[in-house]
Amino acid sequence: MATTRHVKVLIIGSGPAGYTAAVYAARAMLEPVLIQGLQPGGQLTITTDVENWPGDATVLGPDLMVRMEAHAKEMGTEIVSDYVTSVDLSKRPFTAETDSGTTYTADALILATGAQAKWLGLPSEEKFKGFGVSACATCDGFFYRGAEVVVAGGGNTAVEEALFLTKFASKVTLIHRRDELRAEKILQNRLFANPKVEILWDHQIEDVIGAAEPLGVEGVRARNVKTGEITEVRCTGFFVAIGHAPASELVKDQLETHNGGYVVVKPGSTETSIPGVFAAGDLTDHVYRQAVTSAGMGCMAALDAQRFLEEDLAQPDTTVAAIA
Ligand code: FAD
Ligand code: NAP
Repeated sequence: MATTRHVKVLIIGSGPAGYTAAVYAARAMLEPVLIQGLQPGGQLTITTDVENWPGDATVLGPDLMVRMEAHAKEMGTEIVSDYVTSVDLSKRPFTAETDSGTTYTADALILATGAQAKWLGLPSEEKFKGFGVSACATCDGFFYRGAEVVVAGGGNTAVEEALFLTKFASKVTLIHRRDELRAEKILQNRLFANPKVEILWDHQIEDVIGAAEPLGVEGVRARNVKTGEITEVRCTGFFVAIGHAPASELVKDQLETHNGGYVVVKPGSTETSIPGVFAAGDLTDHVYRQAVTSAGMGCMAALDAQRFLEEDLAQPDTTVAAIA
């Protein structure tokens, strides 16, 4: 049955940003409700070892997220297994419709819907995810010390990932579908100057090849887009770096966005272009995209929401005007 509920603070997303916002909002007695979405725990639930979460030299991504959820709950957050299908930010209280039919109205909204790495969409890529196929060199590069790796992509992310991987790998092959990179010139120059890097131009990845027992990558097969010729490149790590898509579908027509859909926040804050709506984590961050930075922004969002509710909600006029 369709129901409507009013909450002070509604948090959308259950990654590090959402759960951290929940811990802080709950401790501020804002009785937050957090909607988890289709991926409870967020992106870290699709990785194995996380070695850069302060306080844990190694922690399994899914375990870390279970702990964050438990922490948020223990502080008093109501965690709801549901998916937000639409939001209306044109007036306060804000409205969020969910898949279950429940409508939430909220005095303040914290958006923490994250971003998803884009994948090539190959069945073999899917098969080896977590077993040699990765979309995050910062997270997994360390595991390829002395190994040969391949990076696919030609933007800033691909070049930065390739350069980062040269710290560990013996050889990094960048495979790009065109004969020029999209990345900034300064990054390109660094890439071209690095003796560990080889570039395979005009090639599109066709397949990831590897062993079944134990499951692991042994190379990639790439097709020359001009001649059709197939080349196999040996590697034990294959990094897909063809862009990230922020999960801003819900708000892209209502909030100011940039860099391909990332929600704009005021520098040094989590305030979006609509007062009372805050954004944290990968949804707003096209540069760092880390668990710890997302958690930090989640904290900021809860503190910003708390201040907003104390200062602004007391005002008689609650009409929202977009400042974009
Ligand atoms: P996310 O973790 O992306 O979570 C987004 C949340 O929003 C999800 O819970 C999702 O269900 C929810 N959501 C989305 N849309 C809706 C909706 N409409 N309604 C309700 N909920 C919704 N970072 C590190 O620091 N260290 C690592 O070792 C590391 N390893 C990684 C390995 C992999 C394979 C990947 C992909 C990323 C890795 N990262 C790592 C990056 C890290 O996971 C992200 O920076 C971080 O998870 C971003 O957190 P977030 O809270 O902003 O969003
Ligand atoms: P991007 O700029 O969109 O580049 C994606 C790259 O992947 C492009 O080279 C593209 O090829 C390629 N690609 C896309 N789909 C593909 C497919 N299906 N198969 C093969 N190749 C494919 O993405 P990004 O590099 O992640 O950067 C995203 C945004 O973040 C950009 O605005 C970027 O400037 C910014 N960013 C900034 C920094 C920084 O400031 N240091 C670092 C990282 C990212 P084509 O070139 O042929 O289209």
